[in-house]
Amino acid sequence: RAKAHQRSGHAYFTRDMGVEIRERVRMMHALRGAFESERLFLVYQPQVDMRTKQAVGAEALLRWKTEEGKFVPPDQFIPIAEYSGLIVDIGEWVLRSACFELVHLRSLGHTNFQMAINVSQAQFSHPLFMQTLHRALQDTQAPPGCIELEITESMAMKDPELLIKTLHQIKQLGIRISIDDFGTGFSSLSHLQKLNVDKLKIDRAFVNEIDSATGNGSIAKMVVQLGQSLEMAIIAEGVETQTQTDTLLSFGCHLAQGYLYAKPMTRNDLYPWLENQKNKV
Ligand code: C2E
Ligand code: MG
Ligand code: MG
Ligand code: MG
Repeated sequence: RAKAHQRSGHAYFTRDMGVEIRERVRMMHALRGAFESERLFLVYQPQVDMRTKQAVGAEALLRWKTEEGKFVPPDQFIPIAEYSGLIVDIGEWVLRSACFELVHLRSLGHTNFQMAINVSQAQFSHPLFMQTLHRALQDTQAPPGCIELEITESMAMKDPELLIKTLHQIKQLGIRISIDDFGTGFSSLSHLQKLNVDKLKIDRAFVNEIDSATGNGSIAKMVVQLGQSLEMAIIAEGVETQTQTDTLLSFGCHLAQGYLYAKPMTRNDLYPWLENQKNKV
């Protein structure tokens, strides 16, 4: 029978899929369990002005630590959260937690701190999303002007009408929008203009190209120019080297998020990091 499986491409494929689906279902249950028993938590990666090295804000990033103490990477569990619909509840928790953190940071004197929060397609297109957002602002008293929601380019392509409408409502609240991983999603330029977003995040791959053997940063440069001509702010993701910093600054991109400046850290590590950074001026 094993031979028959191997010979027949179809049977082989089906068997493989069974394994994959079972694994996905297993992970989905584990993820739900982790969420319910509060084993998900947020870390914060500072975003800095490369000219002054001062933090302007941070991006909230979700982490999952299993009971065995292992970390499951978000690139593995976020797709499962999206696929299963769990992302709606998890995403609401992320939103509220990040808002609470923002308020706490402000109470410690970081009054211009900006909090960037990732939002998935499934959350965004959920009929109660605006209500969830309103409630999070109300309950936490977080200032909308210090919140930025990160969406992806692919979201811009799925249902443009709904997206434009929702973005408009979000912006009326005073919350800003940025496009994450920009340059990887192939959205059209005319589309981009219609969306009227505030910021582009240059994808890490294009930042990497700046000092790699194969590239010279021409795409990063183009994204900066595009942002400038559409009057959007620009931030570079995944900045790891001084050469990348120098080159991005020469392109006119001043904001960065990357290991060169700081890795994502827990709230307990963020406060001392910010204090330490302030003292460096
Ligand atoms: P993202 O939103 O594009 O987040 C940036 C990712 O790049 C983070 O990975 C961050 O740790 C990583 N990164 C930042 N600087 C560097 C660097 O210098 N070098 C390298 N190699 N990596 C860097 P992370 O935390 O693993 O998150 C992966 C993705 O998972 C995120 O990509 C985002 O799409 C998704 N994600 C994370 N948290 C959430 C969440 O709360 N909600 C949703 N919907 N998605 C989330
Ligand atoms: Mg992001
Ligand atoms: Mg990104
Ligand atoms: Mg990403």
